[in-house]
Amino acid sequence: AVPLVVAVSTALAAQSGLLIRNRQAFEGARNLQAIVFDKTGTLTRGVFGVTDILAFGDVSEEEILRRAASLEENSEHPIARGIVQSAGERDISLSQPQEFRAISGKGVEGRVDGILTRVVSPGYLKEEDITVVDSRVEKTLSQGKTVVFVLQDRTVLGALALADIVREESRDAISHLKEMGVRCMMLTGDNQFVAKWVAEEIGLDDYFAEVLPHEKAEKIKEVQKQYRVAMVGDGINDAPALVQADVGIAIGAGTDVAVESADIVLVRSDPRDVVDIIVLSKKTYSKMV
Ligand code: ADP
Ligand code: MG
Repeated sequence: AVPLVVAVSTALAAQSGLLIRNRQAFEGARNLQAIVFDKTGTLTRGVFGVTDILAFGDVSEEEILRRAASLEENSEHPIARGIVQSAGERDISLSQPQEFRAISGKGVEGRVDGILTRVVSPGYLKEEDITVVDSRVEKTLSQGKTVVFVLQDRTVLGALALADIVREESRDAISHLKEMGVRCMMLTGDNQFVAKWVAEEIGLDDYFAEVLPHEKAEKIKEVQKQYRVAMVGDGINDAPALVQADVGIAIGAGTDVAVESADIVLVRSDPRDVVDIIVLSKKTYSKMV
């Protein structure tokens, strides 16, 4: 049988927009010492808009966007959605790519009009030893934007800068958690500059940037050497980290995979509800011995 106090608290949790999928994890939440948040779609809205198109050579800005969007129509990533949307707003008609492949945590590649095309992260270029020298890239990065490069074979045609919006609620959530003595961190596959910008913007204690999807659970393990940790995320990428964490918390509006991997779901998709998890867990389980 479920003890009365727990049953009552589960009802309270439901009122707070929490779906408890694992009662034991909920009990453990009262002892959390650190929370690791995913960036895109968790601390930020996860809705990107293209703010700048940078052309490095003879291929026009519009053509760079057209090729990128043609590939990205096959991707579900928030960056891909932003790029396709931006091409749509400019009435650019897209080509159906002949080949398509996602490069996990790094970008996409395929053939657009027979040309080998890639849309990739700064980290991918570094790995491939491709250097870009253009002061406009540094400038957009310093503005805390997400930057992806558009390639034709090994030639970098240009770059697209994208901006996402930090959720107002994130700032609030972080300041409450810090008051409670909980260390707040962020994990992202995005570049160092965006990560730093977001971290400063909302007052995080620490962050890890350019983390590949398969490394996310490893990072949680590392943090666990020091702290009892919860992970909050929304993406398919986040699922192994949610499972690894002492408490896995999924954003309700996130992917099914994230929700199914989580111990607790934030039904309202509001990061402030993480505070309630700890408060309710303390209230419920401190009454029991
Ligand atoms: P996160 O989930 O933390 O946002 P991801 O692991 O999904 O990060 O992606 C990391 C980086 O890989 C992105 O910031 C981007 O540079 C690149 N990337 C991933 N998917 C795409 C895509 N569809 N198009 C372009 N770049 C992508
Ligand atoms: Mg995410």
